[in-house]
Amino acid sequence: MDVVKLEKEFNKELEQSSNLDQLDTLYLKYFSKTNGLFTNLLKSLSNLSIEEKKKLGPVYNQLNSKLRNQIEESRKNAQQKEINDPLIDLTYPLPAKKTGALHPTTQLIREMNEFFRYYGFSVAEGPEIETEEYNFRKLNLPEGHPATDLQDTLYLNSKSGILLRTHTSSVESRILTDYKPPIRVVVPGPCFRNETPNSTNGSFFYQYQGVVVDKGITIQHLKSTLELFHKFLFGNDVVLRFRYKYYPEVSPGMGTDMRCKFCNGAGCPVCKYRGWIEILGSGMIHYNTLKLCGIDPEVYTGFAFGMGIERLVMQKFGIEDMRDLYEGGMVYL
Ligand SMILES: [Zn+2]
Repeated sequence: MDVVKLEKEFNKELEQSSNLDQLDTLYLKYFSKTNGLFTNLLKSLSNLSIEEKKKLGPVYNQLNSKLRNQIEESRKNAQQKEINDPLIDLTYPLPAKKTGALHPTTQLIREMNEFFRYYGFSVAEGPEIETEEYNFRKLNLPEGHPATDLQDTLYLNSKSGILLRTHTSSVESRILTDYKPPIRVVVPGPCFRNETPNSTNGSFFYQYQGVVVDKGITIQHLKSTLELFHKFLFGNDVVLRFRYKYYPEVSPGMGTDMRCKFCNGAGCPVCKYRGWIEILGSGMIHYNTLKLCGIDPEVYTGFAFGMGIERLVMQKFGIEDMRDLYEGGMVYL
């Protein structure tokens, strides 16, 4: 295209462009760095001989600034027109910005709190920096107890026994120590263990603990509570399996498995071909634990259960790698 024809074409289009959008489109058509009509013309200069360059160069440059100024001028006019337009209200509020959502872990914790509140539980919190006394001793884990080796603990000061709590059972021992039965409480919160993070374990994770202590509490109360809870989380067709399991702070201890919803028990990668998914650990609070916390085990009994929340979040939201929950990805928010 020659220069004269291009200018003519440009002026015609400029006349037809009355608003900012149209002017921007026009600008890109002629001056886009990659494929603008005028840009291409300027580029074509490099193919010409030195004499022709000397002759045409200044003409092109002059035209370049002329056309750009014309667009700029028209933009200003269009802007002024918009400001004066009685149909455009500049005081009108902007559309709301996207503010994100609660973290999936927080969402699930709140849902679970709702459920337990309905059944008369209080929601409690406790310190994340703990003493060995509350984190281990009062939970029937005396010094040197083999179970304390099961948990690689992060100590802030190993001499004085100050540590980052390894479970929210530490709040259980605080509540049993500080309050009189009847007690009905759930404790959500972060816990810390000295573990190398992988797709299903992290050094930082959330635990959800439940504690009930009263006269006449039996394992049947525990089972029915857990059944209701699993139905609430996973639907009425959930199938549970209770089996004996050792946890030092309870006796007897009870592991709770849910039949895998993905394969209906046949075995699949989600349940590691077991057909069942372990959801939580629970049991009747150990005689010694009650005694160590100052509650008379001859009068009161109780149960406790605890579960990792991440595993539930991953099941519920279909998240495959636990680390994704804590790496600040906006996708999850
Ligand atoms: Zn399965």
